[in-house]
Amino acid sequence: RKLPLDPSEAPGVRTVRGACFSRVQPQPLQSPRFVAVSGAALGLLGLSGEAVEEDPLGAEYLSGSRLMPGSESAAHCYCGHQFGQFAGQLGDGAACYLGEVKAPADQSPELLKENPSGRWEIQVKGAGLTPYSRQADGRKVLRSSIREFLCSEAVFALGVPTTRAGSVVTSDSRVMRDVFYSGSPKMERCSVVLRIAPTFIRFGSFEIFKQMDEFTGRQGPSYGHDEIRTQMLDYVIETFYPEIQQSHSDPVERNIAFFREVMLRTARLVAQWQCVGFCHGVLNTDNMSILGLTLDYGPFGFMDRFDPDFICNASDNSGRYSYKAQPAICRWNLARLAEALSPDLPSARAQDVLDEYLPLFNTFYLQNMRKKLGLLKKEEPEDETLITDLMQTMHNTGADFTNTFRSLSQISCPSEGEAVDQPEAIKQATELLLQQCASLEELKVASRPTMDPRELAMLLSMAQSNPALFNILSDRTTVAQQLQKLSRLKELLETTEEELKAKQTEDWTCWIQKYRQRLARECEGVNDIKTVQEERVRVMDNTNPRVVLRNYIAQNAIEAAENGDFSEVRRVLKVLEKPFCKQEGLEQPGWMGRGGSVESGERD
Ligand code: AMP
Ligand code: MG
Ligand code: MG
Repeated sequence: RKLPLDPSEAPGVRTVRGACFSRVQPQPLQSPRFVAVSGAALGLLGLSGEAVEEDPLGAEYLSGSRLMPGSESAAHCYCGHQFGQFAGQLGDGAACYLGEVKAPADQSPELLKENPSGRWEIQVKGAGLTPYSRQADGRKVLRSSIREFLCSEAVFALGVPTTRAGSVVTSDSRVMRDVFYSGSPKMERCSVVLRIAPTFIRFGSFEIFKQMDEFTGRQGPSYGHDEIRTQMLDYVIETFYPEIQQSHSDPVERNIAFFREVMLRTARLVAQWQCVGFCHGVLNTDNMSILGLTLDYGPFGFMDRFDPDFICNASDNSGRYSYKAQPAICRWNLARLAEALSPDLPSARAQDVLDEYLPLFNTFYLQNMRKKLGLLKKEEPEDETLITDLMQTMHNTGADFTNTFRSLSQISCPSEGEAVDQPEAIKQATELLLQQCASLEELKVASRPTMDPRELAMLLSMAQSNPALFNILSDRTTVAQQLQKLSRLKELLETTEEELKAKQTEDWTCWIQKYRQRLARECEGVNDIKTVQEERVRVMDNTNPRVVLRNYIAQNAIEAAENGDFSEVRRVLKVLEKPFCKQEGLEQPGWMGRGGSVESGERD
């Protein structure tokens, strides 16, 4: 429906009142062509990657430049809480549904369990203007599309629930972009990712029914439409949670069971992110999948050196979406979902479900971490401390997250007759872990405050003279973090390379001693330590990836693609499809090493 613009709104912004979807067609690209396809993802739709690539119209169809027969394209209206505040209407500003595809009849039972609807929603992301584009142009460029494409498939291969990406297409259409940090605006090629998921419905889809927000004064475009909200809830439960639908005759109990399942999936998802060092970057409620999938790959990041305060989104000044904040933020988002579902979901009952979230997250996290450490036999209450100590040691020594975990399988249970504190074994293990640690120079770079020092100095003097003004003007978390960095940098400047190495050695030796003691107990009363050890290595090497999509790996592939060479994107995809295996000939030097942090920044 074409509706008049609301004069009270900013130019280009319009509220599409009373809509859940708007029918809109994707805008064709000039000479679309494939950068890469994911055969595994296209297989979900019954398509072969090679056949699609060879088809002269393949890229036309998969970029939405030409509509498939039967396709009913549309953009979805959703709202969301962005950075803690209700933002009103957002919606698919750059994405466009092409419709739903019936899953092939020979779909595996596991897939059917994951996607009981038996259909896949497909979307083209970067397909041009929709009624939800606000001031932007609805386009995406190679940088962001390649990142989304590679990371969707990489996260899937890590065993973490996610939306999928079937292809990435580039073209001769161009848009102007301000490249983050590089200063001057430049023309970039428009590109489109084909996204696939059982559904893209998100927490924010239910927020369109929100009545006035007490803080921002905004309301959802479909406020007051209780029947539609109930219909949408019914649809989601019946289609994607059929077991819950079937086992509850009372609608309220059904809704609570549904909310509990979303809560559980979300807790499990975040635990998985934490365990592979993944930071989403923009955990607004509109990026929270109602199915517990990783959704919307913008300024995401896999950590190199472990830092609990890692922030991958350059515009997240307060660290709201830092690595360590993710579990609590997702709980906060679940609370917003509960509000949006009221009165179908009584708030006291929703609160009970929310109270289960943190303990459940901890359980998933511990389960996963114990596997990563190869603690497979009896659970011990002290395991939690061993894990916390490991993280602390990684942080202190600037150790690489992925490589540290991967190397742990090389530390064996003490063999029969061997002393737990056998010096040679401890020395060897320490040497191994020291290889994953940062050098003095790297630590100094990492400890540089990111805030302008003059600004920091000004804030500090203000904190002393006028605390009230300081509180208004500063984000205290950020200032505290900057100060921490500064004092760490001061320490480092007074340290020599030898002193640092000695400290790192001491830290790791201390942890390894505890780990060896724990491993000895793992083997207590076991006749065949060798079998236990082999099983540990097998489990650990299938839990701790060798490779993740580090920023500089994505960056290399993007630069090559921008110069017309797509082979690096394809090679990276191949390697990331098997993140637990050694792949001779495919991996390049530097894949496992430390390549330094390249600023990511999806800026479109
Ligand atoms: P995000 O932070 O990526 O979740 O996006 C927030 C909102 O901005 C959503 O409504 C998006 O659809 C919209 N958006 C993001 N990129 C674009 C773009 N290039 N053109 C139009 N809208 C966009
Ligand atoms: Mg989004
Ligand atoms: Mg986005």
